[in-house]
Amino acid sequence: MPAEEAECEPRVAAGLAAVQAAIAEAARVAGRETAEITLVAVTKTHPAAAIRPALQAGHRSFGENRVQEAEGKWPELKAAYPDMVLHLIGPLQRNKVRRAVRLFDVIESIDRADLAQAVAQAAEAEGRRPAVFIQVNTGEEPQKAGVFPDATDALVEACRACGLNLQGLMCIPPVDEEPSLHFALLREIARRNGLKGLSMGMSGDFPVAIQFGATHVRVGTAIFGYRPPTGNDVDRS
Ligand SMILES: *Cc1c(COP(=O)(O)O)cnc(C)c1O
Repeated sequence: MPAEEAECEPRVAAGLAAVQAAIAEAARVAGRETAEITLVAVTKTHPAAAIRPALQAGHRSFGENRVQEAEGKWPELKAAYPDMVLHLIGPLQRNKVRRAVRLFDVIESIDRADLAQAVAQAAEAEGRRPAVFIQVNTGEEPQKAGVFPDATDALVEACRACGLNLQGLMCIPPVDEEPSLHFALLREIARRNGLKGLSMGMSGDFPVAIQFGATHVRVGTAIFGYRPPTGNDVDRS
């Protein structure tokens, strides 16, 4: 094992185990099955050496927020662990759709009809069928990606019309607001659209998200530790 990886291993394995235990506890409190909840381990800014210990510990779901960064580390890891599932959780630009479809198994950031269409076309061209989530801007924050709540039903229709494998909704609540209000809103929009998937909850609030029905929690810091601020963070688009 290379030195850098040996150094990461105990820390990452411990972080992963702690988050898994916290998910199990939150599920128990909410009267839910742990198996209904997928932990998406968010690896943005972290090198392959930090990721490998999680794969070796048996973890298989990961998230990245930028296509280009993911292309630098994931093809090799995916080849070594073909059963793993890679989620794109950051904004997707039209000119990177084809590359995103090639690499990612789940795209969580669909937020407009033309992007849905482009992903459907790229999927067809690549012979791939990524699962998709619609990102909802529940706080209606102007700087943040995501469709506004009142435009979500129409986007659900558009995704279904172009044949996408739409599985659910995703949100990132405003940093300074009570997240449960946003989780409840996302759950309601999913319910009325007959969608089962709810990607919500990060390091600071995933137990609350589980209480509100999260099926996917996206956790980075609590597993991999502090990320140096690179500008590569949740609201960058
Ligand atoms: C970085 C990121 C996360 C993980 O955030 P942590 O606070 O480190 O757990 C979750 N979701 C998205 C969309 C992100 O960009």
